[in-house]
Formats: sequence, structure tokens, C-alpha cells
Amino acid sequence: MTTTASLPITISGLTKTYGGARALDHVDLEIRSGEFLTLLGPSGSGKTTLLMTIAGFTRPDSGSLKFGGTEVICTPPHKREVGMVFQSYALFPHMDVAANIAFPLTLRRLPKDEIARRVDQALETVQLGGYGQRGIAQLSGGQRQRVALARAIVFEPRILLMDEPLSALDKKLREHMQIELRHLHDKLGMTTVYVTHDQREALTMSDRIAVINQGRVMQLGDPEALYERPANKFVADFIGDSTFLPVEISGSQAVCHGRPLELPADTPLRADSFLMLRPEKLRLLTDGPAAGMNTFSGTIKRIVYQGDSVLTQITLSDEQVISMRSVGHPESATFRIGGPVTLGLRRDDTILVCDD
Ligand code: ADP
Ligand code: MG
Repeated sequence: MTTTASLPITISGLTKTYGGARALDHVDLEIRSGEFLTLLGPSGSGKTTLLMTIAGFTRPDSGSLKFGGTEVICTPPHKREVGMVFQSYALFPHMDVAANIAFPLTLRRLPKDEIARRVDQALETVQLGGYGQRGIAQLSGGQRQRVALARAIVFEPRILLMDEPLSALDKKLREHMQIELRHLHDKLGMTTVYVTHDQREALTMSDRIAVINQGRVMQLGDPEALYERPANKFVADFIGDSTFLPVEISGSQAVCHGRPLELPADTPLRADSFLMLRPEKLRLLTDGPAAGMNTFSGTIKRIVYQGDSVLTQITLSDEQVISMRSVGHPESATFRIGGPVTLGLRRDDTILVCDD
């Protein structure tokens, strides 16, 4: 399949209320032409509502939605030329694979030979060449999702929307399909908006991620920016594992566990701050404190061998429990349950977050 032209999507002030509840709350989002953007958020945060609004199946109360500069808020779904893949596949069980994929082209009244050619091409694209005459019931979950994908791209849409398309698949297949979907996006080049509640899936697949909570965009950024510099406690908590320790501001210092923290330059000091501790950023200090590091002392509560890494839980003096992830068992004479340890955190990894 050839590379399709893509379109940017400009969303401004989109609001949607159901009864008294806000599903979308003044959403502003600029989706770049040809990018793979993921809407990531917990269940009920408004991801599907936003996607359905882009597709045209949900009418917002107010706001603007533009495809490449053209307002489409009043354009019906079939005229928006948007490809869509749902979690439930939504295939027609009584039609064979080829007829399912041909459906959008049949609707558009394309000539028969053109339809056959495009269907074959779409089947090749999703690596199901030769499966045209199979019945839907004869396919595995992964194959069904590929048919749904072929149907979504067969009319060469400039925008592709996917709502949790892999959530019904088991872990191995899901991870395989993540790479495949991303590959396909890179080959076809259409602007893609992808919905998931799985933060690892979002980190793996996306150019950029919009973290959604309660109908609002909490942060928009590339995977590394979101993980390393979360805008608030919600984002820090939702992406990756973290423990949060309360911080007190005393004069020009942030104090945690009775000790002033070494912080990256230009860290704002706010009274409601928490220190974000990621398990893999903590390391065991065996030769005493090192310069430019913050230290935390406690005793080992649990050691969990997880194959590719070891997770150690440490109880601090005030009974707070923090976690450290390391590759293999750390080499230290006191590294056993109940043993005393001192952990170090680099200044650049000492990130403060607030509730908003
Ligand atoms: P997500 O896809 O992130 O799980 P949704 O967009 O489906 O979230 O839902 C956002 C909020 O809007 C939820 O509180 C949900 O209950 C509500 N909602 C969604 N669709 C409808 C509807 N058709 N009628 C009433 N409430 C709805
Ligand atoms: Mg949803």
C-alpha cells in the first residue's frame, strides 16, 4: 500500500457533558500531521468520548475540531474519511474476510475490480494474504484484529483512530501487535490517534502521549518527557511505578526525611510538593554517601526476584516503604532481610511533583 497523505487535527475547547458529568472538559490538543499520538488515561477519563468526537459519532456541546484547517464539527462521520478500529473488532460474522474488508469500498460504490485489488493489497499490508475467503469465526483474536485494521485502512484514510484495539489479546500477542501496528503506521504515514489505558503500551508505540484525567489533558509530551519530567503527581503516578514522600519547604530548601534535598537547578519550591521516587533510579550505596546524591537509610523489608531484575523494599525510619529495582542481586554484606542499607538518588533524578 502506498503512503497516504495525512492531516493535522486541531482540537480546541471541546466540551461534552452527560447529565451533570463532564466527559470532556475544554480539551485543547494539536495533533501533528502523520504522528502517532496516544490518549492515555484511566477508565472513564474521556478517551473514547474524545475519539468518538473526532470520528463524528459523538456531538460535543461546544468547541472546535479541524482537520487540516477545515472545521468538521458539523460534518457527518462518513464524510470525515476517518478509519476506525474498535476494541471489539466489530466485524460482520456472516461475511468472509474479503467482504468485511471490502465494506467501506462497497459503500463508496467503487468498481468491482478496483475493490478486489484494494482488498488484496490491504490483506498483504496486514500480513493476511490468501485469507480472503475465510470465515470470521475461523480466525484467531489477533487475525480478527488485523482484518478490522485492514478494513480501517482499505479506503486510504488520512486519519486512523484506534480505541484499545489490543486489549482483548494475550500479553505476547499484544506486544507483537504493538510493534506491528507502529510499523504499519510508519509505512502508511497517516495521522494516528490511539487510545489505551496501558502506560507501557503508550510508551512503546507513541510519538507523543496526551495523559487524560477527568476529561482534561494533564500533560502532552513525548514518552521520555512524560516519564522523566511529569507535570504533576497524577502523571507521575499513572506512568511508571513511584513512591511519593512528603516534602517540607524550609526557607530556600526542600526537606525530606529531615534532610535538605539536592535538587536540579530551577526546581520550583512549593509547599504541597512530593518527592517522586522511581525504583530504578535508586541505587545501593556501599561506600557511604557520594557527592551530589540524596541518601535514604532504612532496613530491607522484602527482596523479590523477578527474573530480569530484583525488587527490594526498604522501610525508612518513619515506617514509609520505598522500592529499589536493580539488575541482579546487589553485592553487599548486609543485603538481606532486616539488613541496614543506604540508598542514593542522583540530584538530576530528584523530581518534585504537586497535585496539580
Ligand atoms: P474512557 O474511554 O476513558 O474509559 P469514556 O469516554 O467512555 O471514558 O467515558 C467518560 C465519561 O463519560 C464516563 O464517566 C462515562 O460514564 C461517561 N459516558 C460516556 N459515554 C456516555 C453515554 N453515552 N451516556 C452517559 N455517560 C457516558
Ligand atoms: Mg473507552
